[in-house]
Amino acid sequence: MKSQAATSAGRWSEVLHSRRGWLWGALLLLVSVLLSVLVFLAGEFEEARDQAALERDAASLVSDIRSELVRNVQTLQALHSVAPSAERWAAPADHLLIEHREIVRVEWRSNSYRLLAQRDTPYLASLVGHIERDAFLPEVRQACDNAVRLSGPAFSASYFWPLSEGRGLELMEMCLPLVRAGLPDGFLVATHGLQGVLTEFTDKDLVRGRGLSFNEADGTRLAILSQAPESVRSLNAQALLDLPGHTLNLRLEAPLLPLGLFPNVLTAVVGVLSLALLVVLALLGRDMRLRQRAELEVAEALAFRKAMENSLVTGLRARDMDGRITYVNPAFCQMVGYSAEELLGAGLPAPWWPPERVDEYQHRRSLRLSGQNLPREGYESVFQRRDGTRFPVLIIEAPLIDAQGQQTGHMSAMLDITEQRRIEDLNRASQDRLQATARLTTVGEMASLLSHELNQPLAAIASYATGTLNLLEDGNNRGTPDELRQAMRRIGEQADRAGRVIKSVADFVRRREQTREAVAPLDLVDAIAPLLSLQAKKLGIRLQIDFAPALPPVWCDRTLIEQVLLNLARNGMQAMPEGHPTLVSGLRVLRLAATQPRLSARGVGGSLSHKAWVEFSVTDHGEGLSDAVASQLFTPFFTTKAEGMGLGLSLCRTVVEQHGGALSFDPALPRGTVFRFTLPADVGPPVH
Ligand code: ADP
Repeated sequence: MKSQAATSAGRWSEVLHSRRGWLWGALLLLVSVLLSVLVFLAGEFEEARDQAALERDAASLVSDIRSELVRNVQTLQALHSVAPSAERWAAPADHLLIEHREIVRVEWRSNSYRLLAQRDTPYLASLVGHIERDAFLPEVRQACDNAVRLSGPAFSASYFWPLSEGRGLELMEMCLPLVRAGLPDGFLVATHGLQGVLTEFTDKDLVRGRGLSFNEADGTRLAILSQAPESVRSLNAQALLDLPGHTLNLRLEAPLLPLGLFPNVLTAVVGVLSLALLVVLALLGRDMRLRQRAELEVAEALAFRKAMENSLVTGLRARDMDGRITYVNPAFCQMVGYSAEELLGAGLPAPWWPPERVDEYQHRRSLRLSGQNLPREGYESVFQRRDGTRFPVLIIEAPLIDAQGQQTGHMSAMLDITEQRRIEDLNRASQDRLQATARLTTVGEMASLLSHELNQPLAAIASYATGTLNLLEDGNNRGTPDELRQAMRRIGEQADRAGRVIKSVADFVRRREQTREAVAPLDLVDAIAPLLSLQAKKLGIRLQIDFAPALPPVWCDRTLIEQVLLNLARNGMQAMPEGHPTLVSGLRVLRLAATQPRLSARGVGGSLSHKAWVEFSVTDHGEGLSDAVASQLFTPFFTTKAEGMGLGLSLCRTVVEQHGGALSFDPALPRGTVFRFTLPADVGPPVH
């Protein structure tokens, strides 16, 4: 039963467990996906923001460069206006070159591109000379043609100007057509180094930590101001520097920070929140697991309890404070023959109470509830099954206390004691049979004494009868009526005596129902006195009866107690046979005594009761008890006598204990043994 319940609980918990596992898996997956998307989007957002900033910066750089170049045009125009002749041109041109590092050369050419004057930047040692300047005349022309067409400054495409040691410069011509008195007056050509343009015209703060370069459309680098630091990924923005006659491509590059897990605040916040969420999920999961384990344990404990209750032979029943049944186990249902459904909720009187005892049980219950005196050893009662049969039960009751310490009802355990009763009855019957056997044995022993004792009165009767006949028949010497009357009276007396002897034996042997009554202690002795004195006379023993004056009656079965006294007295006398040394010492006495009742709490058979006890004692001065004999004294069939049965003392003890008393023995002084036993004094109503 238990294993079945446990397996079903186990299977159920497995199903729950696997379903929860799935749910948890799905939840974790969803949360992880959500978090990854969040982190990804946050990253994307940050990147887009950086890209936009980069593009803004590139546009601002381009605009800076353009306005600086426009300012250069004005500077060149000013140069021409302050130095109209080639001789006076050199000094301001040098000054201009010192001021403007991005310009590497200034030329003044005629309308036919003939070189009128030229100055080189002081920052580069040998710009011209290494390669013939005229090799790049087409670029100059292209710029100047554009300038004429646009009637303003124009730029050429950029070109590479090699320097010594494999170095070189990317240069770009700017041509400014000159006008004097409304007529074209040649061109002013300023050769710009693209590197110089980047260095001089850009805001250093915007460039710090970034890469800035001029590129061709196909990505070829023309001039580089700075390189972006090495990184796995980088952002870049392109901006077109649209100049009259030529367009340059400015490229601004910024590294994406070497990606840690959280490259920026937003992603970090999302990440931290995600971590917190995961931690909370883990804690929740742990909590669930703990609860699941607790649930499983409770289910197992319940299954175990159920299995235990079902396998019990003890009936269990719980009642609430109003007497309604709140719980019954199968053993109880089986005992009373009702189903659990019929019993649950049933109030008082209970269905198993025998109808004629309902009042008694109600009363008993209210007494118990008011006094709360629930005996630990339980109490006995009689129940009625559904089919009307009765059976005895032992009920042990305990209060039901809930978790708050409040009493919610009573729990009772019930044992069907029918079988126990049957065994007790059987025991009692066999005890009775044993006692009857013992009585018969005693009678057998007494028979020889009886025949001896009866001989006397019978012989006396016979001789009185013969004498009387003689008096009647002798014609000479007829007896007087007085003589005859006396003879007849003697005959009557002797017959009486014989009758008494026989009656005492008959009384003793006749089996009677066990009945308790209040008996005066002396009456007990008187009843067995004829039998005792027969034996005492035969053995030459003096009987001494020492009963305290005004003894109260004792509560006993008189026949059984008489037999106890008779047994003890007979044993005492048999311990002092004829020829025993006590004859010489004058101790040939058997003493029967009884004391005034004493109060004492003595328990027999587990029940404690305070009563007054009268103590009887039988003292002999025989050979006494050796240790070996004393240790076996009460063992049935233990005897040291050839004709003994060995049942006397064990029966005596049983009888005394049945009366609630106790049998003990001690050595007597100066020799012999004293046997003592107690009986309850009848000083009040009997207590069962
Ligand atoms: P039985 O008298 O038939 O032998 P009992 O049970 O009365 O059976 O006694 C058991 C034995 O105990 C006796 O055989 C005897 O040895 C011993 N006994 C009993 N009473 C006395 C006594 N007063 N003095 C000495 N021995 C005793």
